[in-house]
Amino acid sequence: MVEARWSPGGTSTCWEGVALSSVDGSSSTPLLSVRNLRTHFDVGGHAVKAVDGVSFDVHEGMTLGVVGESGSGKTVLSRSIMGINTASNASTTGSVRYNGTELIGKSKRELRDFWGEEMAMVFQDPMTSLNPVVRIGRQLTEHLRAHKKMSKAAATELAIQLLTWVRIPEPEQRLSNYPHQMSGGMRQRVCIAIALACSPNLLFADEPTTALDVTVQHQILNLLSQQQSERKMGMVLVTHDLGVVATRTDEIAVMYAGKIVEKASTSTLFSDMRHPYTQSLFWSIPKTSEPKHTRLSAIVGRPPNLAALPVGCSFADRCPYVQPICREVEPELTTDSTHSFACHLPVGSADADAALSSNIAQGLAQSEAAAIRRDAQTGASA
Ligand code: SF4
Repeated sequence: MVEARWSPGGTSTCWEGVALSSVDGSSSTPLLSVRNLRTHFDVGGHAVKAVDGVSFDVHEGMTLGVVGESGSGKTVLSRSIMGINTASNASTTGSVRYNGTELIGKSKRELRDFWGEEMAMVFQDPMTSLNPVVRIGRQLTEHLRAHKKMSKAAATELAIQLLTWVRIPEPEQRLSNYPHQMSGGMRQRVCIAIALACSPNLLFADEPTTALDVTVQHQILNLLSQQQSERKMGMVLVTHDLGVVATRTDEIAVMYAGKIVEKASTSTLFSDMRHPYTQSLFWSIPKTSEPKHTRLSAIVGRPPNLAALPVGCSFADRCPYVQPICREVEPELTTDSTHSFACHLPVGSADADAALSSNIAQGLAQSEAAAIRRDAQTGASA
């Protein structure tokens, strides 16, 4: 019988008396290895390329931030890796290896062995991921009983411990609440408790703090960081906000139009970003150093239609550095000594500076906006 004790600080076991599933402790073997992953949706005979040739590794204890605007493919990426894309018109190809085991091609029944105990997900919207007509206690204990084969009493005891750990006051009383009787922050903490209940080795956190106020956002991110560091759990933190991942990730992958356009260690990305889209995302973060009522710097234009991507670079219509070659040849993801990026005129290069000056002279709107942002940035940091 399993004793109902949950320890957030364990390193090899989180359930006392229950060893975690086999994990290769070698730091050189990725916990998760994704190669050339594609998820396309057939919509009216057109392929909507939501994820298009994505590759990355996540090692034990590492946090990868996946950043991009809405519609860039971040959420579909997480769902494709987990195998929970339920749309009948979706087709996923490529390779997803968890601890060396290939997941692409496995049936839902086979994947259930990995969900919960091996990998889990905190969804973006707790109101849709929690069942609105089932009490919180039952949602927690059913999850535990299904995956851990626990008795009802043991599962209830553990559910109380989990709610306590995610700092929900009066956890015994809260077990009888329905989701609508809790605040948004509390519901999101319940979702985290459910995701972490089975001590997964890999957690996908998909916009876990969207729509929460900054205080609650900070608390929830701290809870996840605590788990990640104490248990050597691998984590993929998906967000549209570069500010959220700045201090909480080891590596960042920037997604645009279903592809990774830049990937680097967090420190490198912030100190030496090379892709204009990454730079635009960075510029759009509100700065505390700016005077009150400073207009927020949005990225000009909209993301492209994934069913009819342009020839060449997908960011061309919004890019302040765009040149004719960008509209003719799609840039490949290339890797230099510090990171990978896909751009013909990487930020910081002489070619990029010349392109920006030329575009400003020709009155290209996004280039003028970029120049204003750049000048403001330089002024703020001076
Ligand atoms: Fe901009 Fe051209 Fe680089 Fe695309 S390839 S991001 S359009 S400079």
